[in-house]
Amino acid sequence: MKNVVTRFAPSPTGRLHLGHAYSALLAHDHARAHDGIMLLRIEDIDPGRARSAHIDGIIEDLLWLGIEPDGEIAYQSERLALYAEALGRLKGLGLVYPCFCTRAGIAAEIAASVSAPHGPDGLVYPGTCRRLSVEERERRLRDEPHAWRLDVGKALEFPGESRGALSWHDSTAGEIIAHPERFGDVVLARKDAPTSYHLAVTVDDAAQGVTDVIRGTDLFASTDIHRLLQALLGLPTPHYHHHPLLTDGEGRRLAKRNGAPAIADLRGAGANPEELAANLRAGILPAGYSVAGA
Ligand code: GLU
Repeated sequence: MKNVVTRFAPSPTGRLHLGHAYSALLAHDHARAHDGIMLLRIEDIDPGRARSAHIDGIIEDLLWLGIEPDGEIAYQSERLALYAEALGRLKGLGLVYPCFCTRAGIAAEIAASVSAPHGPDGLVYPGTCRRLSVEERERRLRDEPHAWRLDVGKALEFPGESRGALSWHDSTAGEIIAHPERFGDVVLARKDAPTSYHLAVTVDDAAQGVTDVIRGTDLFASTDIHRLLQALLGLPTPHYHHHPLLTDGEGRRLAKRNGAPAIADLRGAGANPEELAANLRAGILPAGYSVAGA
């Protein structure tokens, strides 16, 4: 049997809150129950938001909760060459194109169009830069900042696995048929970062041998994109477990902006970590919080 490898992959844009702790405990416990390992991966590709002080804080919070990750901590900011290599392969296959659009330009184009399809992540990119002539593309590539987008239509026509019905398995929802086209042409490398969440997470889960991806249902739909990238890049598909999100008394998912308490605050207020972890495992949350749908 394959050894189980799980991971907890926070973006260091703040301290961990209860929702993160819940997710990390699930990943940790799944690994321990199967004699496997749990990796910690810091998803610090966002140059504007990632902070090293948050990274130290996240590690401290996990250890306080009794979650000791295995092996070396991986930092996405140190793995950019891997993502560049994957993007280079997709460029070589002709499945990505540079996008020079600004947010404002995209919004204006959508506002002026008759149909504005919505995908799981909001309005779908109208494909403006997909239609540029080769000459214009070459000229603008020389001196304009650009992102790289996946040509999803072309990717789904690409000979090989991606052409057939792609599916993946979720431990709760079962077999899922992927429909990555609902997202439109997603960004694989941003103007301000040489990768995007979708590309980095797909490359890393494969490179780190992750067998079981445990994360919140907010990322359920994104798995369709990851599945397509796996097919295009010849990477294995892990098992997925998308867990319900924790919500506050008003049914809002936990987030710092909604006033969710940070683990550090609970600790400062004298919470007992064993008790907190045991309660989270049992789905018992501090007063006013609940597990969505439970
Ligand atoms: N870094 C992502 C987050 O903090 C999670 C990525 C994942 O688990 O796939 O929301």
